Amino acid sequence: MKKVLILEDEVSIRSFVVINLKRAGYEPIEAGTGMEALEQLKNNPDIGVAILDIMLPDIDGFEVCRNIRASNKTIGIIMLTARAQEMDKVTGLMTGADDYVTKPFSPAELTARIDALFRRVGADVQQDDSELHQGPFVLNTRNRTLEKNGNRIKLTQVEYAIMKLFMQNPGRALSREDILTTVWGRDYDGELKIVDVNIRRLRIKIEDDTANPTYITTVWGFGYKWGL
Ligand code: CA
Repeated sequence: MKKVLILEDEVSIRSFVVINLKRAGYEPIEAGTGMEALEQLKNNPDIGVAILDIMLPDIDGFEVCRNIRASNKTIGIIMLTARAQEMDKVTGLMTGADDYVTKPFSPAELTARIDALFRRVGADVQQDDSELHQGPFVLNTRNRTLEKNGNRIKLTQVEYAIMKLFMQNPGRALSREDILTTVWGRDYDGELKIVDVNIRRLRIKIEDDTANPTYITTVWGFGYKWGL
């Protein structure tokens, strides 16, 4: 069964999520504190998706997210945010989360997001063994790695999927909707803004000058273009 970590200190919300995860066919792994979550991840390296609350009694959810990402690039991470925490969403994504769900959320909404992450994590496993070479970049679809001038750039699953889409479509303007559909899946119901947040993070990793991006350029009012 696919394991999903749920980190939430409020027992009522956690139980609610656990019941719904089980109903959706997942195996929930529970944690009530940040430290407990990290411990559970150590004991269950096969956890595919982690759902992280932000406000916790010990270390906050962002810290947990950073901690997980430092050693695990492939796990899917969803942040739970309160409605008023608009900025937190962005910060959460900048620290390496793949998605966020705003409280209060419906069980269907949460499981749809988890399903989407699992699909993406699994989607590239049976990939062809190939390398895409463009300028200083080499994308290896077997190892799911990106190199720039021979140096490895560490990417999250989402960033990798975006890079792959770009490098398969050099010089083509891709709409934000195209990117969202390809990377997050057709039935993903999140906001387009998540595309921009991930692009911004990707630029920090791959551009020579983040303030003047030359590889990923903005097509105003439309989307983005990959070019060299
Ligand atoms: Ca909380």
